[in-house]
Order: sequence, then C-alpha cells, then structure tokens
Amino acid sequence: MATVADVTVHEGHWIGGERVSSPVAFEDVSPIDGQVIARVARGGAEEAAAAVSAAERAFPAWARTTREERARLLHAIADGVEKRLEQLAIVETTDNGALLRSHLRGVMPRVAHNFRFFADWLLTLGHDEFDTRGHRNHVSWDPAGVCALITPWNAPLMLATWKIAPALAAGNTVVLKPAEWTPLTASLLADITVEAGLPDGVFNVVQGYGEEVGAPLVADPRVRRISFTGSVPTARHIAAAAAPNLTPLSLELGGKSPLIVFADADLDLAVDLAVEQYDNAGQVCLAGTRLLVQEEIAAEFTERFVVKAATLRQGDPRDLSTDIGPNIHREHFARIDGFVRRAVEAGATPVIGGGPNTDLGGLYYRPTLFTGVAADSEIVNEEVFGPVLTLQTFRTEEEAVELANSTRFGLAATLATGSPERAERVTARLVAGTVWVNCFFVRDLQAPFGGARQSGMGREGGDWSFDFYCDVKNTVFAPGGWNG
Ligand code: NAD
Repeated sequence: MATVADVTVHEGHWIGGERVSSPVAFEDVSPIDGQVIARVARGGAEEAAAAVSAAERAFPAWARTTREERARLLHAIADGVEKRLEQLAIVETTDNGALLRSHLRGVMPRVAHNFRFFADWLLTLGHDEFDTRGHRNHVSWDPAGVCALITPWNAPLMLATWKIAPALAAGNTVVLKPAEWTPLTASLLADITVEAGLPDGVFNVVQGYGEEVGAPLVADPRVRRISFTGSVPTARHIAAAAAPNLTPLSLELGGKSPLIVFADADLDLAVDLAVEQYDNAGQVCLAGTRLLVQEEIAAEFTERFVVKAATLRQGDPRDLSTDIGPNIHREHFARIDGFVRRAVEAGATPVIGGGPNTDLGGLYYRPTLFTGVAADSEIVNEEVFGPVLTLQTFRTEEEAVELANSTRFGLAATLATGSPERAERVTARLVAGTVWVNCFFVRDLQAPFGGARQSGMGREGGDWSFDFYCDVKNTVFAPGGWNG
C-alpha cells in the first residue's frame, strides 16, 4: 500500500476480486518533483494469464445479467467515482502531472459520465427487427467475451473508462493494463468497483511494463477484443500479436493535427484556440500542433499569439492557478527536447520557448512556437507530444487543405473562419476523424471518435463502441410463428 497525497492506494494487481502481488515491483515517480510515490507490482506473462482466466470465469454469469442490472451497476460505479472525485483528482495529478484544476472540473466528472453515458445508452440500444419475405430478422448485440484494454498515461482514468464502461455495459469482462508511468487511479477504480458491487473477475487490472505484461495479454487467444490507445509503434506490436488469433482491434493513436486560420476568422478566437493547444503541457492526442495561418494575417496572428501565450502560468499542477504543468517523465522530456534541438539545427526559429524552463527546473518545458519550418521537416511531421507548435503560412484555400492533409496522421482538424461556405468546403476535404469549426475539444460521447490513416482504426462512442465490443448477431425466424 502506498499513501499518495493522503490517499491509500494498493500497489498490487487486481485479479479475480483479489489483490495480487508480483515478486518484483517498479517505481512510480511523480513528474512534479521526481519523488517515488509508489512501488507497484511488475507483472508478466503469469499475471496476464491469471487475469484472463479470472475474466473468462466471470464472463458467463456477467453476460447473462440483464441490461438493467448492468446499467444499475455502472451507475453505482459512477456514484463511487463522484464520491471519491477529489481523491482521484489529486492522485492522478501527483501521478501524471496534469492540472488538478482540470482533473477536478473536467476530467474526473467525465470519468463518471463515461459510466453513466454507456449505462443509459445500453438501455436505448435498438434491437432492430425487420421482415424478409415474411421471415422476421432480429438483430442483437451479444457480448464478445474477455476484452483486453491497454491505455496511455496522458489522461489515464478518463481514457481507460472510455473503454471499460462500454465493454462492461455490453456484458463483457475486462482486463485493463494501465500505462506504467501512471498506474494509480486504475487501482483506485478497482476499489470503487468493489464498493459498487461488481462481481469478482468482471473487472481486472494488471500492472507493469508494456512488453512484459501487455504483450502476453494481447497475444492470449482467449481475449476476444483488444482496445488500445497509445502510440503508432506500440500499435504495430499489438496488431502483430493479435494477428495469429485474428483478435478484433480498436486503435486510437497519435496525431499531428492542423489548426487552420483563414484571414476571415475572428482573430481573437483563433489566437485563443491556438494557445489552448498547450493544454496538458501539449500531451493531448487531439492537439492542433500545426498552426496553418493565411499569409496576410500571419504577422498579426503571431504577435497576438505571443502576447497571449505569455499570460500562461507554468508551475506546480496542484496550484489551481497554474496553466501548464510538467511533462510526464524524464525520458519523455528528453524526447521533446530532442525534437526541439533538431528543429533548431534544421533551421527553425523558436518565436517563444525553445527549451526547458530553467527557472522551474525538473520536467517543465517552455511552451514553444516554431516558424521557418520546412514542410517535410521532422518537427512538422512527427508527433512531439509536448508543448511545441509550428506555424506555417498558406495563400489559398487549396494550399491550406493540401498542407492540412499532408502528414501520415488524420486524428483531428480545427478550422477558424468567418465564412460558413468556406467551412463547408474545407471540412468536406479534410482527412480527420473529428473536425471542429471555430471551436475545439467539444465532445459528445455518442459521436464517433477515432482517427484516419495512422491515427487509428475503428471508432468508439455511442453505437460504435457497442458495435466493437459485441458480436452483432442477426437471427431469422421462419414465417408462421410457433403455433403452426
Ligand atoms: P505507448 O504506445 O508507449 O503506450 C501505451 C500503452 O501500451 C501503455 O500501457 C504501455 O505499457 C502499453 N504497451 C507498450 N508496449 C506494449 C506491447 N508490446 N504490448 C502491449 N502493450 C504495450 O503510448 P504512450 O506514450 O503511453 O501514450 C502516448 C501516445 O498515445 C501518443 O502517441 C498519443 O497521441 C496517443 N494517444 C492517443 C489517443 C487517442 O484517442 N487517439 C488518446 C491519448 C493518447
């Protein structure tokens, strides 16, 4: 057991309704001050197999529960999240360095909403019926079985529950493998599921490194679905591991999304949208990190951007007035810095930032904006996943679309324009799973969410989640009914 910000957190796995330890542990370090906050069980193939066995045993009974019963339990989990909202928020902030303010106001309420939304959606899910030459077709959503869920560190509990809630609602059992840099709130969620009365084995958590416990988990032939959120290189490993069993996969991956600002845009709004891309110290998959600005307003836009960005307060994420906290880990910090150094060497100009915040030390990286970037340069094409934006200019709408669609990613795109006709034309041509016009990050859980190209495979949200986590079945009844 560890005590993190006065909250007791189990450091073991959660398998079949029991806390399970491993012979070895790994150190969980807070990005705020580099302190070791927990020593967490370091699982491997044995723990992965045990968790799948527990989930497999629990599946038949859970799959037979009524929709109403599952919905009731999901709402009870949401109640538990709300009851412990402040604890979850401070533990997550200590673990991943994201703002406490955001956790309290947005992220943890969304965690509860994930459960409530899919509980309610389950009850409205249509069981379609239609006729074929007098035969009655009946479409049903049957649970698939054990689901392996693998999640990243940038919004750990929110992204995990975005998968856990629909998987459980559909009648599946779950093995979650949270990121090794942020293992703690998954452990607290296990406690909450117990308090809510979820049967043993329906929800399981294995802790440890991806290659050690994640890899055997996704390769297990008893796993019926794999849902992964994380990076493209890891997705390739997971897809390869899934291939022999043809396990269906959902992949939510990285991005290098454009924020396109036309000369007819409300410039204050456009600048606000651009500065918002530093949210979570730039560790947001959807972030519009490529600012594409129409040439005639580029100078004014940049000037206003610099003024606005200077108002951001960088510091301890537990301070509610902080706007930008630390990055997650010293390895990741070095990776961000590597991107920035290579961009400078390649001739890019940092208009702001361009290095670590030496006043604060530790893992605080200065919000950075580059101009003078070449279209084919690394900084324009690779996901940095830190507070680093680039600015390129364009002349025409055609050129804007071309630049926007020019990377191997297609997660999101944002557009600032005063012209509804232009918005219609441009959005229709953008390759992206989500497009925002004159807004950013507005998300409804019934909307499809996912990425095009190497940003992912499949969609989650509303019916799309149930389609993925279920074996959709069509049953055809002969004409005439049962009584002759
Ligand atoms: P990552 O790919 O390094 O790790 C993600 C998870 O995969 C971790 O739990 C890790 O332990 C596990 N893992 C690693 N190797 C594995 C293997 N061989 N088999 C099974 N599991 C393995 O990603 P990250 O650094 O944690 O997260 C950052 C990335 O996630 C960024 O690219 C970001 O864009 C992406 N992301 C995407 C979305 C989205 O919805 N599209 C949301 C958040 C983050």
